[in-house]
Amino acid sequence: TEDVLRVNDLSTRFFTTEGQINAVSSLDLRIERGEIFGIVGESGSGKSVTARSVMNLIESPGEITSGEIWYRNRDLVAEVEDDYPDAVDGEFVDLLELPDDLRRSLRGTSFSMIFQDPESSFNSTLTVGEQLAEAVEVQRRASANPRSTRARTREYSLGNYLLSSVLPSQRYVSEASRERAIELLEMVGIPDPVERADEYPHEYSGGMLQRAMIAQALAGEPDVLVADEPTTALDVTIQAQVLDLLDDLQERTGMTILLITHNLGVIARMCDRVGVMYAGEIVERGRLEDVFDEHVHPYTEGLLGSVPDLERAGDRLQPIPGNVPSLIDAEMDDRCYFADRCPKAMETCLEHPPEYDAGGSDRHQARCVLAEIDYEEGRALPADYFGDTE
Ligand code: SF4
Ligand code: MG
Repeated sequence: TEDVLRVNDLSTRFFTTEGQINAVSSLDLRIERGEIFGIVGESGSGKSVTARSVMNLIESPGEITSGEIWYRNRDLVAEVEDDYPDAVDGEFVDLLELPDDLRRSLRGTSFSMIFQDPESSFNSTLTVGEQLAEAVEVQRRASANPRSTRARTREYSLGNYLLSSVLPSQRYVSEASRERAIELLEMVGIPDPVERADEYPHEYSGGMLQRAMIAQALAGEPDVLVADEPTTALDVTIQAQVLDLLDDLQERTGMTILLITHNLGVIARMCDRVGVMYAGEIVERGRLEDVFDEHVHPYTEGLLGSVPDLERAGDRLQPIPGNVPSLIDAEMDDRCYFADRCPKAMETCLEHPPEYDAGGSDRHQARCVLAEIDYEEGRALPADYFGDTE
């Protein structure tokens, strides 16, 4: 297998009146084509900001302040190499070197995203079928004429808006797109898709709307699906069904999935490889079994702690004493971010940030001095060094 995404040294900051928030810091990722890569961490660890950075959905006062996001796609290389030669390296394009409108135009066909809250993806005044058909149309027009890609996204939301003002019978752009919409509903397991296509979003149950959102995300046959807490709002039985659906769709289409969750059970059930996020950094990553069974980082150890049964989708992260450090004006480049919660902290952890080398996608790595030295060799800090963290 080959890498489809290589994220190097990505930093995303938010410039607020309270100060600068370093939401994502020097993040490295390697994602292989056709895998399910999981990012797990507590809330506020930077998982969603990472997903939104990859999707080009960071809005003011947020900004990607450094890094590269290399995406392997030969067609895109051919499309952009004359105008943006600096953005191209072999079969890869650095998305951050492309103009914003061109990047935005990749949404739907190259990258699609699903969220915790499907209502945000649908217009309540149009039927689900109409909206899927419109998504299909937009992607069709775009692939018929790749040079017009810039207009895609704008066209889609404008189209949605205009559609809501015409009679329902006139809303379908073509019979073919209506049929494709029904096919998509069938593909995600909506019963009676022909009838259901004519219903409005509020007539769907939460689990069904989640499926319909997945159908919408797949309308443009994306290369990479980014799923941010896709099942968190659902009850456990429906959660399991939606996860099975994603797994099945991944196998059928060969797409790559970047799955963001705070739920270790979901990671254990779905993912090939995993990155554990803490305070805007990936602190440990590797193949699922390496990270779960041979974890090196004390944060990973704490999360896994006493999780009784990783197959259970309802499992939550273990609470770890202390708080995620404030990332406002964080000036901790010279130390380990986890030090004041780490039961194994040593003096050396406060002297320099632990080394971490991006390396190949299958390498098991931890951003922790324990990956390099033996705990016994270091000088352990006294238990109350940082004061009482309870
Ligand atoms: Fe703990 Fe030190 Fe490793 Fe940081 S570098 S996680 S403080 S042992
Ligand atoms: Mg989140």
